[in-house]
Amino acid sequence: MKMVTFREVSKYYSGRAAVRDFSLEVEEGERLVILGPSGCGKSTLLRLVAGFIPPDSGSIAIQGDIVAADGQIMKSPEKRGVGMVFQDLALWPHLTVKGNLAFGLKARGIPKKEREQRIGEIVRLVQLEEYIRAKPAELSGGQQQRVALARALVLQPRVLLMDEPLSSLDLELSVRLRGEVLRLQRRLGFTLLYVTHDREEAFDIGTRVVMMKGDGRIERIGSVEQVRAYFQARATASHLIRQNLNDRSA
Ligand code: ADP
Repeated sequence: MKMVTFREVSKYYSGRAAVRDFSLEVEEGERLVILGPSGCGKSTLLRLVAGFIPPDSGSIAIQGDIVAADGQIMKSPEKRGVGMVFQDLALWPHLTVKGNLAFGLKARGIPKKEREQRIGEIVRLVQLEEYIRAKPAELSGGQQQRVALARALVLQPRVLLMDEPLSSLDLELSVRLRGEVLRLQRRLGFTLLYVTHDREEAFDIGTRVVMMKGDGRIERIGSVEQVRAYFQARATASHLIRQNLNDRSA
């Protein structure tokens, strides 16, 4: 079963394409990374899947069900089974960790007993049991990141969208949390759409990588190994060209 299907999706802002003719099938349980420079349309792709904006043309389906097409939203964000973690974690500062996790469950009318059980399970999984009564400001950057992850995962999404979630952290912590994301994804089996501009992060997280061009189009799609080989070949080619030019001008 395809989890997310983009069919010829385009999205314009003031007449400029943020995403252009984007077609892609994301498999259930896959970890797909969208890699590209700033402004190439990565966040727009996630916002389209989340349901915050509709595509101007083309369609988006989740598990075969068309959720938005040609300027219209057919299924609202909260009904899509899609969770989100952004770089700006947007934790509620006045609520404890538990309060942050309970918020979405309450909004969905989950009864107290089930809320407690689901929160208990997820805080164990992300190793935050000791901090359940802490407020976000009392936690480290990495712990806050884990709260944001837990808050998305406690809603048991089919698809998790992550937009540059680790780019505000130092490299060591970022690498550690990449491992954490992989562990949780393997354990819980959700489909991951992960946006980054960082090549190494893309290779660490992804099973497949979509490389974006600056103008919202796909440059290349491949497995991590294929995309890594492509970058190596490109680096070698530009090295040879430079050498050739140097030889000629010598
Ligand atoms: P990325 O996530 O790759 O940095 P975005 O998807 O945020 O790229 O943006 C793609 C393009 O669309 C950029 O040129 C950006 O300026 C433009 N854009 C994104 N959101 C809006 C918006 N709400 N209004 C106007 N332009 C936007």
